Amino acid sequence: MQNNEEFDAETPEEGAIVESEEEQESPETTWTPKTKLGEKVKKGEITDINSILDSGKTINETQIVELLLPDLEKDLLLVGQAKGKFGGGKRRVFKQTQKKTNEGNKPRFTTMAIVGNKNGIIGFGYGKSKETVPAREKAFRNAKLNIFKIRRGCGSWQCMCGEPHSLPFMVEGKSGSVKVRLIPAPKGTGLCIEKECAKVIELAGIKDIWSKTFGQTKTKMNLIKACEHALRQLIKTKIQPDHVKKLSIEEGQITPSEQEKTETEETSEKEGKDKNLKK
Ligand SMILES: [Zn+2]
Repeated sequence: MQNNEEFDAETPEEGAIVESEEEQESPETTWTPKTKLGEKVKKGEITDINSILDSGKTINETQIVELLLPDLEKDLLLVGQAKGKFGGGKRRVFKQTQKKTNEGNKPRFTTMAIVGNKNGIIGFGYGKSKETVPAREKAFRNAKLNIFKIRRGCGSWQCMCGEPHSLPFMVEGKSGSVKVRLIPAPKGTGLCIEKECAKVIELAGIKDIWSKTFGQTKTKMNLIKACEHALRQLIKTKIQPDHVKKLSIEEGQITPSEQEKTETEETSEKEGKDKNLKK
């Protein structure tokens, strides 16, 4: 009984998490870079995130990523569960663990964050702290610093459409007992994968996928790590030059070509004229 009471007292309210979400100041004005890479980015010498990722340099400042990828979306994954009454076990963002000491129970919170631009770039971050808010901040920071590129393509023999909407080939990842296999799927399939992994895959910019998992997949932390491992295999795998065209492989961010841009501008101008005429 004593234990239960302690749990209730120390479980933070869910509402507190949302309130502390503050608007961040823009990095362009307030940021003074501390690394050479940061200075180059601020001066405008580097404008492409791909060049940094290709060079293998470590990113030590989150502002670099924020400047170069302004449309970055972030999300937290449900790795923990609520404790206490009414059955407990409700899925939560924070995984709570405790250490027994003479003074009482010392709780610690762990969370897993992902960032991605839905266009071939994804990052995973792990954060741990005595309180929920710093844990979340750490997780987001780590996720931003650990971004990497993925390869996309159409490797499904049922499709072969030549658009990078799925994976170019099958990949496998492993963590603990969990093994995740990501399989290319034809257009219109959607994300046939566990929900937390689907969040990751969606932020990475993959639209169609099949999957198969092995092992104790209710250990969400391991499942997500396995998923990350599998996605990292995409860029590590060596490919032959003729496969690039055959499987329509695209690496990292896809920027729309100039032709398409001008076309869309023209059409928008036309539409604007039509609207003016109507008026
Ligand atoms: Zn296809």
